[in-house]
Amino acid sequence: MEKKVVIYCSASKKIDPKFNAAAREVTRALHSLGYAIVSGGGAVGTMGAITDESIKCGGCHVAVLPSFMKGLENPGVSRVVWTETMSERKEKMREDTCAAIALPGGIGTLDELAETHTLRKLGRYKGDVYALNFDGFYNPLIELLDHFVATGMLEPKDRDLIKFPTTPEELISYFK
Ligand code: AMP
Repeated sequence: MEKKVVIYCSASKKIDPKFNAAAREVTRALHSLGYAIVSGGGAVGTMGAITDESIKCGGCHVAVLPSFMKGLENPGVSRVVWTETMSERKEKMREDTCAAIALPGGIGTLDELAETHTLRKLGRYKGDVYALNFDGFYNPLIELLDHFVATGMLEPKDRDLIKFPTTPEELISYFK
C-alpha cells in the first residue's frame, strides 16, 4: 500500500475555526511524515483548510471531485481527478490508500466514513480507519456504535475497526 491517506471532512463555512486548525495540523504532520493526501478537494470549509495547507507546505494532495462540482475545486492542489458520480468519487478517493481519516464533518463525511467502515468490515478495504474525536465531536457516533453492539447489530470486533483518537497528535502517532 502507498503512503497515501484519504481525509474526509466538512465542506461547511459555518463551523468553529478550531476544527480547521486541527485539520491543518493533521495535514502538516502527515506531509512531514511523507504521506500524500487525497480529499474531496473543495476550496471551502475544512476541505479548503486542508488543501490550502498542503499547497503551503508543498505536499502532494489529490483532489477528487465529481464533474458536476467543476469550479469548486481548490485550483492550487497538485492533482485534480474528475469522476462521473459521487459513488465513483468515494471509490477513487479510497483507491490505494493505507488509511482513511474522518475529521469532524457533516452528513457527507459520515457517508464516506460509513462506507469505508463497511468495506473494511467486508475485507474490501485494507487500510486503517480513524475518526478524529476532537473535542468529543464523535461521542454521539461512538454511542450509536455501542448501541448497535448492544442490540447485536454489530460485532464488537467490527465496531473496533474505527479508532477514535481525540487529538491531532494522538491521530498522527499511528502514522509514525
Ligand atoms: P459534509 O461533511 O456534509 O460537509 O460533506 C462533505 C462532502 O461535501 C464532501 O465529500 C463532498 O461530497 C461535498 N461537498 C459539498 N460542497 C462541496 C464543495 N463546495 N466542494 C467540494 N465538495 C463539496
